Amino acid sequence: MLSDRILFYGAGGRGVVESIGVDNILKDERVIPAGGFASDWTQVAALQGGRILFYAPSGRIVICSIDADNAIKDVTVFPAGTYATDWTEIAFLQPPAKPSSWAVVLIKFSDATTAPSYPRERFTEVFGGAGVGKFNMVDHFWEMSHGTLDLSVSRVFGWYTIPQKKSDYTGSGANPAGRADLITWARKAAANAGENLSPYADHVFVITHPPTDLFGGAGLGGVSGDDRDGAGMSSLSPALVGQEMGHVYSLDHSRAGGVEYRDSWDVMSNRGLYMAPHPVYKELDGSGRPIWRIGPGLNAANMAGRGWLDASRVWQAAATESNRIVDLRPLHSRGLAGYLCARVGPYFFEFRVKELWDAAISQPCVLVHEFNGNQSDLLPATNGHQDLRTGDEFLRGNPAGPTGTLVQVKVLNIDAATRTARLSVTRRP
Ligand SMILES: [Zn+2]
Repeated sequence: MLSDRILFYGAGGRGVVESIGVDNILKDERVIPAGGFASDWTQVAALQGGRILFYAPSGRIVICSIDADNAIKDVTVFPAGTYATDWTEIAFLQPPAKPSSWAVVLIKFSDATTAPSYPRERFTEVFGGAGVGKFNMVDHFWEMSHGTLDLSVSRVFGWYTIPQKKSDYTGSGANPAGRADLITWARKAAANAGENLSPYADHVFVITHPPTDLFGGAGLGGVSGDDRDGAGMSSLSPALVGQEMGHVYSLDHSRAGGVEYRDSWDVMSNRGLYMAPHPVYKELDGSGRPIWRIGPGLNAANMAGRGWLDASRVWQAAATESNRIVDLRPLHSRGLAGYLCARVGPYFFEFRVKELWDAAISQPCVLVHEFNGNQSDLLPATNGHQDLRTGDEFLRGNPAGPTGTLVQVKVLNIDAATRTARLSVTRRP
């Protein structure tokens, strides 16, 4: 979810911090009364990670955090004269998000006898800027790439009726190479309509009516249907499409204990245990089950494999560490100050809580992964827990021995309310 917060600041030292919800409603307002801030701040700038900086012409500076409740804390003051007195403009640079636009092509077989399952608006919302904030694919890849990928400029083409009948599609199963046919037919239909899809390269996602297949591949593109699958889920669920589009970005299926599809906390193992009901598209099937699902999120190892993990938010262990305390914030909560991941040698430690894309995980937890051969692998605690809880430990090596390679990470505390997990890290080369 792209959540926004703003700060108002007045010359009287009065201020307000508040959040803007996805429905454009102001909420969680925190008023700082007159005199609450110094009255000579002429520059106020927001940093990443829920922090702000104030600058006064005397060269005085304050840097502070704004926590999840919009309260100001961790205030650091640099006295007058610390900075030059003539700065009149301050700007903070963030790596620009890469526009990563997709062509979403809606095609109907010539022998289709029914209407598509959703109005066109649903497709533009699920894939494009129109649906930002509604847990759509733009939100998914923005959050899972730590703001590297911006899919908001994606465009929906069609519906196009193609000359082929549904039975002409013989891909999948014994003929996996035939899958490319659907994408070829869709490209042709768009070209016949005067559209040029070549700028999209392999970022082409085809939706067929009636449904035929569900897949994605680098250099190929992706395909889904416009209706429910055999399990009653919408094939357009971000939980499923997130994986297929992820494949086009060269993500592979995640593993747990070396076995593919077994990392229940990762979208690249779906269909997993922890897909959450879609918070916006709440349609139910005849048995009252949600048709649309989201999540879980993408794990830190997979993010790092794509260059999406924000390195400035990763704590890196030195070659030797002894009971070093490291606090983690939830992996996808870039709006919170602090580290989002800890690296200890080849291992990625991340904290996940029951909210947003991870709303359906069984409990807040710390996960440990490594990344080999383009696949993430979930590694368990010494007691077998795949999701580490307070008191659990991850161990490689012998802590009782005087020498030898050692990685020993204990989960000292998990506090879901403050969205903080505390680790103790010991490492020996
Ligand atoms: Zn897959």
